[in-house]
Amino acid sequence: MKIKTVQLLNELRILFFQHMKSSEGDLHFQKFLEVFLIETKEQLYMEEVSFFKFDEWKLQYYKEASTGSVEDYIMKAPAQEHIEKAMNENKNDEASFVFMPKDFRDFQTIIPLWDQGKVNGLIALKEQGISFRSLTEEQGTDFAGEFATILKSALSISKMSVEEKRNKRLFKVTEKFHSSMNMDAVLGEIISTLHTVYPTFDYFLLLSHDNDSHENLPIKDLEYDSENVAALQAYVTGTIQFDDHPSDDHSILYAPLKGKQGVYGVLQVIAPNTLMFPESEIEFIALLANTAGSALENAQLYQQSKRLVSDLQLINETSHHLNSNLRLSETMEYMKQQIMKSFDADQTGFILLLPGENVNLLTGSSDFFDSEESELYVSFMKDKIDKDKESLFIGDLSVKCPGVDVRYHSLMAVPMMESNDVKGFALVLHEEPYFFSFEMFKLLQSLIHHSSLAMANSMLREELEKMVITDHLTRLYSRSYLDDKMSQSMEVDEEGTFILIDIDNFKKVNDTYGHQVGDDILIQVANLIQHNIRDTDIGARWGGEEMAIYLPRIPLETGVKIAERLKDKVGEESSPKVTISCGVSYWAKEQFDNVKEVFKRADEALYMAKNSGKNRVNVKESRL
Ligand code: GH3
Ligand code: MG
Ligand code: MG
Repeated sequence: MKIKTVQLLNELRILFFQHMKSSEGDLHFQKFLEVFLIETKEQLYMEEVSFFKFDEWKLQYYKEASTGSVEDYIMKAPAQEHIEKAMNENKNDEASFVFMPKDFRDFQTIIPLWDQGKVNGLIALKEQGISFRSLTEEQGTDFAGEFATILKSALSISKMSVEEKRNKRLFKVTEKFHSSMNMDAVLGEIISTLHTVYPTFDYFLLLSHDNDSHENLPIKDLEYDSENVAALQAYVTGTIQFDDHPSDDHSILYAPLKGKQGVYGVLQVIAPNTLMFPESEIEFIALLANTAGSALENAQLYQQSKRLVSDLQLINETSHHLNSNLRLSETMEYMKQQIMKSFDADQTGFILLLPGENVNLLTGSSDFFDSEESELYVSFMKDKIDKDKESLFIGDLSVKCPGVDVRYHSLMAVPMMESNDVKGFALVLHEEPYFFSFEMFKLLQSLIHHSSLAMANSMLREELEKMVITDHLTRLYSRSYLDDKMSQSMEVDEEGTFILIDIDNFKKVNDTYGHQVGDDILIQVANLIQHNIRDTDIGARWGGEEMAIYLPRIPLETGVKIAERLKDKVGEESSPKVTISCGVSYWAKEQFDNVKEVFKRADEALYMAKNSGKNRVNVKESRL
């Protein structure tokens, strides 16, 4: 009997188009394969026709469909060896038939499906009576070529639809990636895609530094000291690595999660019953891993930029605040608050370095720095900062001070510089070891750097102001200060009394005891003035041995009493004994007075006191 090859080919072509039509281009390969095999069996009077597919993972042929049984589906090793040998020999001709050895009973003839120099499937024919060996070589080649083309077309169409589905998944992942800043959503999509495409595999994301908690994501820490060499290798080199466990019958692939700027972790894919990952699958997994890497990178960059913005805001706000002419105490208090808030610090201190070994604590420092306990931290930092002029960042002080009972483990210290001199340093403490991050340290540095000038300015200003407003010898206010305060008072208050004081016969004191004692008398009188007036009153050195008191909102009678009391006190308490004369003047709002006139009247009153015997108080009441 003749093999009816032409008729079969026609039938198969019709079947192919029917299947294409019925499923709208999306050919269901399995269904087509079934009818294809049955049709072949019947038209050619075969006993059994089977389709073997090459499993790239296992490098094995397995029976995917058959008109007979699909049990015992893995091709026997001798058969596979025979087929591979035959095809390797005929690779260039893309052999149309492979005839099995005579003693092989499962099937006698093989029609390979060549695809670009590779065989990705076989039709195995178990003959009964009629043999393909009866065809001429030309007939055989023609038939096998046509026959394979039909099946290959179906196969490639179905492969295309598988790929299309896969690409759609990939598209969905990248779409999510581009539309969402939510890293978890992107990672979730990637894991679910992997589960859809390779449902039997296990997946883990090994992340290098991950502080956030992710729900429902298979995330593990990438441990640097782990024995997992392949995972680390993938992370460090940024290339895909394999870890095959033939004994455990599974294979692990590590794909780096690569972004544009670095590697953020590793995707671990565990494939059971597999020894090798085929190229095309690796590519797909690598693509997904890179998308995950980019998502992680984006999230990290986003966090970083958010942090930078808030850091800049902090620095900006602080500099702005400090430059608004605050007093030193306010400046330091503000700095402390900012540091405590921004770094979640336990203690903040500002230590001023004085000439020699001395240090001074600036106002604004936490109370802790008044305690003896703080000396450990201050002295530890002081020498280093003074010498190196550099900031210090210590994760755990107890490591540096063995045997010492350390309460605050985390330390940051930043020098406060002014024109290349270390003026002092800011010290920030926290009980927990490794509490501060390196970013925080850098932020503290910029903060102090930006504020040093403002701090130095307010320090200088305060010193300068004190210098200008106080008299060096008597520590009383300067005349100009009294002048200013009295002008202000005359604008806002209702009344006030002014007392001009002159030490009687002072020239004689100097002549008798010397200038040193003269100075001491001046100090004694100044102290008596200070003790006999209130904080709101202003005692000043008027010049030479003359002093003055301005009493804002004090009526004349009270002012005169104060002058009398002071005159008596000086007479009683000074040593060597001196007396004073006082001229008192007074102003009230309705008199349209001015500072100069009030001074002048007091001067006149004093002149009269001197002329009427000294050691007395005289009043020149009104300008009229
Ligand atoms: P009178 O009772 O008339 O005020 O006599 P007086 O001696 O106090 O008068 P006069 O104003 O002529 O002399 C003031 C002296 O005070 C002159 C000056 O040597 C002295 N004197 C001024 N300033 C200081 C100072 O800072 N220290 C000392 N030791 N003496 C001063
Ligand atoms: Mg005088
Ligand atoms: Mg005098």
